[in-house]
Amino acid sequence: MGDDPASRVYVNNKKKACAECGIYSEEYALPGETSQEELLRLIDTLNKKPEISGILVQLPVPKHIDEKTIINAIDPKKDVDAFHPVNVGKIMVGDYDFVPCTPAGVMELIKESGIDVAGKECVIVGRSNIVGKPQAMLLLHQNGTVTVCHSKTQNLKEHTRRADILVAAVGIPNFITGDMIKPGAVVIDVGINRLENKKLCGDVEFESAKEVASAITPVPGGVGPMTIAMLMKNTLKAAVING
Ligand code: NDP
Repeated sequence: MGDDPASRVYVNNKKKACAECGIYSEEYALPGETSQEELLRLIDTLNKKPEISGILVQLPVPKHIDEKTIINAIDPKKDVDAFHPVNVGKIMVGDYDFVPCTPAGVMELIKESGIDVAGKECVIVGRSNIVGKPQAMLLLHQNGTVTVCHSKTQNLKEHTRRADILVAAVGIPNFITGDMIKPGAVVIDVGINRLENKKLCGDVEFESAKEVASAITPVPGGVGPMTIAMLMKNTLKAAVING
């Protein structure tokens, strides 16, 4: 909804990925002034539409729309973003079909890099519902020892320097610097920040961090593409679940 430039890029990338995978997709680019009732009606139609297995509402939505009401309206079996409380609860108990795409992408990167999470000190900076919190659950399910830091955390550096696996999901450019990282740590940068010069940068200061880390993800090109890949995976699962 509306004309958020970042949302436009994300939606285009998702549509492109669907086309590449052979997944049929429909886009509803609603004007910013669309009412909540109209949006709810569209979600209801898509919930009932048999040829649609997965639905996502690209966030953020305009201020007059209640994000929670919208997320709650999506059929949990079609909730490929895994933001519906039913799916959030399933992640808590470790019995889930859909995992939020960004934390799932982070887990896939860790797995494919041959890194075993069990017993590792995992520190996440950021506690949002879409990244930090589900990331904590996924790392915990893999037997990591998890610390979640946020804006009220005292002595942040003491926490980050303990991390064998450090996940940055803060939304502040270059927030994590090399001196905040334990030598040999695995550093995963979830942040996508657009600088004044229009360049993208992460939450980790790549140049200083790469000197200390044993492995590090770049921005752009690290977690971002993985997020989309995981969305495709969730959509395929949804197609199987919904028959
Ligand atoms: P939110 O703004 O929802 O959350 C940011 C978190 O960072 C909050 O928990 C906040 O703490 C914490 N924080 C803010 N300032 C500090 C500080 N000084 N010290 C410690 N913690 C701090 O962001 P999101 O989780 O939605 O996104 C984080 C980043 O990841 C953004 O750059 C976003 O663009 C990017 N992103 C990337 C995706 C991808 O596909 N790669 C997908 C989703 C997001 P508090 O809770 O106390 O306010």
